[in-house]
Parts: sequence; C-alpha cells; structure tokens
Amino acid sequence: MRCWFCDVRDAETEHVYQVEMYGDVDTRKTPSQTQVAYNVRHVEVPRCADCHSRHVIAFYALVISLIMVIALAFAILAAVLSWTPQWIWGLWAGLAAGLLLGTLLIRFLILKGIRSIHQARITHPEIKDLLEKCYRFGRRPKGSPPKSDKPCDAPSDQDASGTVP
Ligand SMILES: [Zn+2]
Repeated sequence: MRCWFCDVRDAETEHVYQVEMYGDVDTRKTPSQTQVAYNVRHVEVPRCADCHSRHVIAFYALVISLIMVIALAFAILAAVLSWTPQWIWGLWAGLAAGLLLGTLLIRFLILKGIRSIHQARITHPEIKDLLEKCYRFGRRPKGSPPKSDKPCDAPSDQDASGTVP
C-alpha cells in the first residue's frame, strides 16, 4: 500500500500512523449506577519510514519552538519589569527568537512535500468520515459521568460497517 503522507513510497506496517476515536456515546442512568456505552474506532493511516521520521523531527521542532515562545515571553517580562540588566534579557530574547525561527524553519522544510499529522487528523478520508459522525479523538469519553451524544447532524449509518482490519 502506498504511504498516505507522501504518495510516493510504500507504506510499512511498523510505521503506520494510528489513532483512536470514540463516538456514539450513550449514557443511561439507573437508580444504582450510570451505564455508558460508546464505540471506539481504531484508524490506521499507511505511512512509510521516511515520513515517520520526518513527523518525529517535526514534532520535536514544534515542542522546542513552543518552549522558545515561553522563553521569549519571559524575556519580555524581564525587560518590562527590569528583573535583569538590559544585556541579559536582550541576549536571552535574541537567542529565543533565533531558535524559534530556526525550529519553525526546520519544521517547514521537513514537512515540505508530505502531509503532516495535523492534516491527517483533518483530511484523511476515514478520520474525516468519523469526524462527520461526531466522533472525537481519544479512547474514551471525558468527564464523569460522560454526557450522551446529541443526535449528530450527519446521517448516521448506525452500524460500524466493519471496515477496520
Ligand atoms: Zn511517506
């Protein structure tokens, strides 16, 4: 099977992108307990080794850039509240801004020409289909007790049509 992310290389089973989604939450209250029923769907998006490692690098680049945003915010606070001498927060802000731009650039370049995880979570046909059926990402409903799903706008084909291998 072809990798969904690059459309070029062959997908490999050990590099497949997996995501769990749940939906059709139905909560019933009985005098003694609350029963919650829901469906979980396991979606596998075919992926090659190359796209997998690109996604890992892109993830870490994103983490580092978020840390740099926080570092930059602290540098600005330090400047405004005069916590440190000017040269310290100046250097600090410069480093944070430089690393932020660098990691964003790395992320941009590494994901060039392939689809990102974020795109998969929006546009992959099977995920899109489940999102339209009001499924959400995750393994189980949040909150206790979880709320029942309101009837979904999309026509629900009620069955789980067993297409997941
Ligand atoms: Zn690929």
